[in-house]
Amino acid sequence: MPTTVSSTKFGAYGGQYVPPELKKVLDNLDRELKLALKDSKFKKDYKKLMADYVGRPSPLYLAENLSKDLGASIYLKREDLNHTGSHKINNTIGQALLAKRMGKKKVIAETGAGQHGVATATAAALLGMECDIYMGQIDADKQRMNVHRMQLLGARIIVVSGSLKEAVDAALDAYVKDMSVYYLLGSVVGPHPYPFMVREFQKIIGEETRAQILEKENRLPDYLIACVGGGSNAMGLFNAFMQDKNVKKIGVEPAGLGLSTGKHAATLTLGKPGIIHGFRCYLLQDEKGNPAPVHSIASGLDYPGVGPEHSFFKDTLQAEYATVTDKEALSAFKLLSEKEGIIPALESSHAVAHAITLAKAHPGCVMIINLSGRGDKDVEYVLGLDKNGEEDETD
Ligand SMILES: *Cc1c(COP(=O)(O)O)cnc(C)c1O
Repeated sequence: MPTTVSSTKFGAYGGQYVPPELKKVLDNLDRELKLALKDSKFKKDYKKLMADYVGRPSPLYLAENLSKDLGASIYLKREDLNHTGSHKINNTIGQALLAKRMGKKKVIAETGAGQHGVATATAAALLGMECDIYMGQIDADKQRMNVHRMQLLGARIIVVSGSLKEAVDAALDAYVKDMSVYYLLGSVVGPHPYPFMVREFQKIIGEETRAQILEKENRLPDYLIACVGGGSNAMGLFNAFMQDKNVKKIGVEPAGLGLSTGKHAATLTLGKPGIIHGFRCYLLQDEKGNPAPVHSIASGLDYPGVGPEHSFFKDTLQAEYATVTDKEALSAFKLLSEKEGIIPALESSHAVAHAITLAKAHPGCVMIINLSGRGDKDVEYVLGLDKNGEEDETD
């Protein structure tokens, strides 16, 4: 891990748009983070838990059936095989270790699909800390199993009306009222130092991938493809390849029911710069600049803002951003299950869907899909859609 966190901004994005009391707490967090990243014991503890508890390194798997059908070499970075079933645990363990090092007794967090909530509750249980999770009603209904999992792990669930944005609002409110707790943010969003910090804990994905693909193909890939909600699994994969100009980095956003319907969460594709939750980024907003309502079949992608570094990458063309509809994601969910025996999360299915389109257009290419999570959590919901014969209208 590098030991410097040098600026609060990525070009015009990021920063700290917060009240002075909160700025003080964030600046302290920034100092504590820098100290921890230089501390060999902290690094050793993190590495050990990544290996023995999470099960890293996660495999880089050549999906041979899919590759044969599509005429390209398609690799899956298997973050779905991590303990708790997604990439989120890389970050929650890092931050929970930091919270412990800072002497905190309690962590609080927001969650969308429940994956970050489960990963946070898991880290809190492991390190013996109290844990409060804020979750929107829409997501809590859709992801009942994750609510039960979090409770089993000893967390208290606070359900608020709405979805991920409202869950962040509520968690931030609680934090401002009691800043003695540790706010464990789930993606590369929020005010500085969160986007830097979450990238630090997720970049292990790209570091492993780079070594694995060089060993397997003796070359770098043509494409890296990852879904983008806040952008942490994509940033975790891309980061180790930023100097490699020939490796195309593609983030995939949810087009929901279609970009023209207004029911989507394609922030980088259709948003405009604005401020949400204390930082500047591309933002889906109404005429008044307030965050617009968003929709995706994948709760984990359902956020009107996006990471400041992705916003910067879009402007500087260091990465490209594509979109995939609910329907296309659902087809990819089923295809990967049938072809490879791997049920992907609906979030990750967006990356799979775009990779399929890309493979057909570029025969012979080598691509890596970040399979950010497993789809067990989505099976009941997808079954319900099939029974109803159409997609539920959830917002
Ligand atoms: C939370 C989640 C995402 C979206 O978050 P990012 O920060 O954009 O990675 C994607 N996939 C899965 C499986 C998730 O749980």
